[in-house]
Amino acid sequence: MKAALLLSRAARAVVFTGAGVSAESGLATFRGAGGLWEGHRVEEVATPEAFARDPLLVWRFYAMRREQAKKAEPNPAHKAIAQLERLFPSLVVVTQNVDGLHQRAGSQRVLELHGSLWRIRCASCGRELGDDRVPLPELPPRCDACGGWQRPAVVWFGEPLPEAIFREAERACTEADVMLVVGTSGVVWPAAGLVEVAAACGAAIIEVNPEPSALAYLAAVQIPKKAGEALPALVERLEEVQGARA
Ligand code: NAD
Ligand code: ZN
Repeated sequence: MKAALLLSRAARAVVFTGAGVSAESGLATFRGAGGLWEGHRVEEVATPEAFARDPLLVWRFYAMRREQAKKAEPNPAHKAIAQLERLFPSLVVVTQNVDGLHQRAGSQRVLELHGSLWRIRCASCGRELGDDRVPLPELPPRCDACGGWQRPAVVWFGEPLPEAIFREAERACTEADVMLVVGTSGVVWPAAGLVEVAAACGAAIIEVNPEPSALAYLAAVQIPKKAGEALPALVERLEEVQGARA
């Protein structure tokens, strides 16, 4: 398997993930759900304008996502990625997901480009806290410090990405020899641009996606399978290749 050979020769690796890596945990991808929630387009719920107009509507959407994510379990793809970190101590997971499943599977170095469902930030004073209570005691939640509305600490359409995290991800991409691109349609920017950065800096791109993504043209290898099937097989093959060398 060419992907395992590429990985076995690499010193530094990045795994870049999107909603597809959590699909087999039962969490719908945006495009998979037709981009709709209760008849609203997701782009109309996940924006600062929507929150200003109707914070309760926005919170009902996030309360539902928190409930689903809490019930979900990491799948074999998340677990294989966590196992890969043991083979590559320098491995960085760069994710567009907000569900926390990589961390629950045991990945230690996870850069969350789009924030987390499990953090909440005051829209007035900016105070941010971890909060994994499901359900939350009141919606929308109020800030203890200033009494303002709190919002999910996720990146909404039209908002900038957290700068320090993006820079760290960019650095990991420029240094990577191999990048695994898993379960992303590659159409959400600037996140998708990180795959171009890695490719331009010499990383071999391995795409794992049952459908070729918008980034497929960058891939040296395409594995047209579900992440939960492809990644455990890839890790197993890599261990064999490494074992044969030792
Ligand atoms: P997307 O919905 O645009 O694309 C999902 C991709 O995953 C598609 O290319 C699809 O072919 C692929 N896919 C589906 N099932 C798969 C599987 N079993 N294995 C491998 N690939 C599979 O998602 P995106 O690219 O992440 O971009 C959309 C935005 O949606 C992101 O900003 C992300 O923050 C957000 N989002 C996150 C979650 C989550 O945290 N679980 C869920 C939905 C959306
Ligand atoms: Zn506050």
